[in-house]
Amino acid sequence: MSRDFTYSGSPAHIVFGQGKSAAAGEWVEKLGCERALVLSTPQQRTDAEALAERLGSLAVGVFAGAVMHTPVDVTEAVMKVVAETKADCVVSLGGGSTTGLGKAIAYRTDLAQIVIPTTYAGSEVTPILGQTEGGRKTTVRNTSILPEVVIYDPALTTGLPIGMSVTSGLNAMAHAVEALYAQDRNPISTLMAVEGLRAFKASLPGIVATPKAPDLRADALYGAWLCGTVLGTVGMALHHKICHTLGGTFDTPHADTHAIMLPHTAAYNALAVPEQLEPVAEIFSGSVGGGLWDFAKRIGAPLALKDLGLSEADLDRAADIATENPYWNPRTIDRQSIRALLQDAWEGKRPG
Ligand code: NAD
Repeated sequence: MSRDFTYSGSPAHIVFGQGKSAAAGEWVEKLGCERALVLSTPQQRTDAEALAERLGSLAVGVFAGAVMHTPVDVTEAVMKVVAETKADCVVSLGGGSTTGLGKAIAYRTDLAQIVIPTTYAGSEVTPILGQTEGGRKTTVRNTSILPEVVIYDPALTTGLPIGMSVTSGLNAMAHAVEALYAQDRNPISTLMAVEGLRAFKASLPGIVATPKAPDLRADALYGAWLCGTVLGTVGMALHHKICHTLGGTFDTPHADTHAIMLPHTAAYNALAVPEQLEPVAEIFSGSVGGGLWDFAKRIGAPLALKDLGLSEADLDRAADIATENPYWNPRTIDRQSIRALLQDAWEGKRPG
């Protein structure tokens, strides 16, 4: 086995622990800032307002308009608020949608970001911003996009609904699975990916049974940090390309799309790189795709794209877009195979 690799650690500050979000104000000050704009989705407005109240004079306002896939028109609206309030940093409270909006601001202004994640999507530890305009999702990678501080507070995730906990966890696991065969993987990314998969295997079934269990929530959030970190440090392949295509073009919900596609894309690539995916088969006790599918079914994840409102006719267009300008992938990508894979995922078949 070749031992050649390049490794660069992330410069972000990671703070992890129950109740640690109470220290958000200290982090605003440590960053040398004094005018924080708090961001959230409309659904998490009350929590964002409570956070702004706790920040006191360090907060200059709340923008609770974040939505999925970071549409450019929402970013334009928040940029006006940034200018009006003279904000000098953002505090993003929520999942990947809110983090995405904070990143979109940082990309345009280089303002510092403090992120307090409440899902397992992992965006908070990546220098990647996906934006949508005119029905297409484009992705940029830039050092200004990586949040400076991430505060993981498991207490904020106990209210994450079970269904969302499951799909968000599988979304995170997809980052780890693709990291195992990434061309630019390194020993640390592989260790983190395997540990992240183990953390979710150990926590998600328990969370479904007892959603408020603090230790299980802490394990899952720990998995989210690990899986998000590998997403930020190594390249993703077929799985992420297909999910970006479905989300960007057909507006399918992000985490559900990842949850449904993961067993299929992993099974597809397992034929080319069985050794690299061996840990997946081992952790999920089965074949790579079958083991992941059985785990997803056991924890009540959605299994079929047709349940996300995607029509069978959409699959042709999805296969076209997913195979034009494909990302590097360990197994050759051809339109016919990808169309067949999408058909299986649409029907909700167990891979293999
Ligand atoms: P989300 O942020 O859209 O959250 C889904 C819903 O759950 C929202 O209504 C939100 O307010 C609510 N919610 C979040 N946490 C909650 C909690 N603890 N309790 C109750 N409700 C809660 O969903 P997501 O899956 O976290 O993020 C998806 C977005 O993130 C997509 O746009 C995706 O492209 C992006 N993303 C980007 C990256 C990256 O590196 N750029 C990585 C992962 C995801």
